[in-house]
Amino acid sequence: MKIIFLDRDGVINKDPAGWTEHSYVTRLEDFIFLPGSREAIKRLTEAGYEIVIISNQAGINRGFFTKDDLKKINDNMLKNIESSGGKIRSAHYCPHTKEERCACRKPNTGLFKEATKNLDIDFNGAFFIGDGSMDIEAGESLGCKTILVLSGKSGLLDVKEWKTKPDFIKKDLAEAVEWMLNKSAKRKA
Ligand SMILES: [Mg+2]
Repeated sequence: MKIIFLDRDGVINKDPAGWTEHSYVTRLEDFIFLPGSREAIKRLTEAGYEIVIISNQAGINRGFFTKDDLKKINDNMLKNIESSGGKIRSAHYCPHTKEERCACRKPNTGLFKEATKNLDIDFNGAFFIGDGSMDIEAGESLGCKTILVLSGKSGLLDVKEWKTKPDFIKKDLAEAVEWMLNKSAKRKA
């Protein structure tokens, strides 16, 4: 089974930090697809990947929005992706704040385990694409190959400060997917 994990904010949609009310996507209007992200998800779907979204949403337990708000935003995203020809296997969200010390908030890996329970998958063969250091740390601790995209909250200068470096760095999801699919096509040839 070919599986790929995606962070949400800064990968699929515009990172909400700095321009939304609480720097979280709390309303439908705050969810803006990044250029090329739906097309990239469609290409992954057509290439036979199972796509799983793993996202920290501490704004829920900080009281900025509710699980119902999140569900509306998520359902709308899935509908939109589907009408573009893509398919998400499942989307998983951690509502906790850092202070709650849960097992699911990235860089912890609880949500990945939940997403893949009962599935026969090899994390070592899987990619995780994210835009933050917590994504890279989570992916690394699972043994995934990590791709940092520069379409969200991190730039190349930030990466210099990180203890855990991404395996690969790409401009955005579209470029990451283009690169991945080319690479696997070459392997097969
Ligand atoms: Mg993100």
